[in-house]
Amino acid sequence: MSVLVLNCGSSSLKYQLFDMRDESVKAKGLVERIGIKGSRLKHTSFPGGDTVRDGDISDHTEAIKIVLSLLTDKKTGVISSLGEISAVGHRVVHGGEKYSKSVLVDDSVKRSIEDCAYLAPLHNPANLAGIDAMQGSLPDIPNVAVFDTAFHQTMPPEAFLYGVPYRYYEQDKVRRYSFHGTSHAFVSRRAAEILGHPAESLKLVTCHLGNGSSITAVENGRSVDASMGLGTSPGVIMGTRCGDIDSDVALFLVEKEGGAARTNAILNKESGILGISGISSDLRDVVAAAGEGNERASLAINMLTRSVAKYIAAYASVMGGVDAVVFTAGIGENSDIVRGLSLKKLEFMGIKIDSEKNEALHGKEGFISTPDSKVKVLVVPTNEELMIARDTFELSGRG
Ligand code: AMP
Repeated sequence: MSVLVLNCGSSSLKYQLFDMRDESVKAKGLVERIGIKGSRLKHTSFPGGDTVRDGDISDHTEAIKIVLSLLTDKKTGVISSLGEISAVGHRVVHGGEKYSKSVLVDDSVKRSIEDCAYLAPLHNPANLAGIDAMQGSLPDIPNVAVFDTAFHQTMPPEAFLYGVPYRYYEQDKVRRYSFHGTSHAFVSRRAAEILGHPAESLKLVTCHLGNGSSITAVENGRSVDASMGLGTSPGVIMGTRCGDIDSDVALFLVEKEGGAARTNAILNKESGILGISGISSDLRDVVAAAGEGNERASLAINMLTRSVAKYIAAYASVMGGVDAVVFTAGIGENSDIVRGLSLKKLEFMGIKIDSEKNEALHGKEGFISTPDSKVKVLVVPTNEELMIARDTFELSGRG
């Protein structure tokens, strides 16, 4: 009754083992620097504690073999045999237009993940490497692919198309996909439960604000607009990503910096909160610097909160109203400053914040709006791994 959830990056692997009887986490871990000198694995079992293993790990297949042996090991293990793992769920970044839901992996699904690799060149090949490695190690266990893009496949064409010649959509599938779909789906469903209304009757704006950030309009349980795009840099400014810019900025950088690769690095790794503040991509450092009077740190916070407010108001207009705004992820769950400054600009929409509740709520579920606020505002901690485990358990039919 255990489900293993894997999130494979190009040189990393994150995992969690769930006991689906009560959805508890039995073990979790992170392997870093796969295929690079100085690999490190940190494994935590519950109860049990941490195990750290240093030593080179050449590829995802080797990493998965080590993880499986740690899960069944007498000292670090939490299951007596690999037979207790009933299915494996994989986070897959890009499902293109083909997948609007999670699917059981077969050869055609693997081919589709490969076909979408041109849209997510860093992620899809790594996700596929994880699936291959898992199929090699546990050939009889079903694998499920849970796509970051799937939840947003309900966006209408007027939301997902760009104003470039239509042939680029027809020929190359150039369009807005947006990401973090698993998180937006999870928090919107949980918010509906907390609000005590069916998701199918609610207009929500979900704000996933972390190192990467995206905002989604969720109408009647379906994503109808979302702030990321063809790639993951559009929307609000992020830790190191630029957020919305106009195409002329990108063209200027291509000319000045001598090419697309360098421009890509500037827009994705050197921009956003880091690029504006010049201090850090981590909001905590930037808030601390702003508190000491650093003007560019304050500017980065003001840019972020202004754009969060703009998206909430824009998405309310897209849906013809909004019942609740939901904050999640590292910044959304923890930063009362970002929540407070963003929402202050939205008093005209009938949003009233209880400052004491806002200041007190960190990393926990709850309301930060006043009881008479026309639009409710909630914090809902995200749990993408649990969402992947649930889909995997359901689709694998091993429940
Ligand atoms: P995530 O990508 O969801 O892990 O979020 C990472 C971001 O959340 C970083 O910018 C952190 O600075 C921010 N964050 C985490 N904890 C806090 C906190 N207590 N206050 C402000 N920001 C936080």
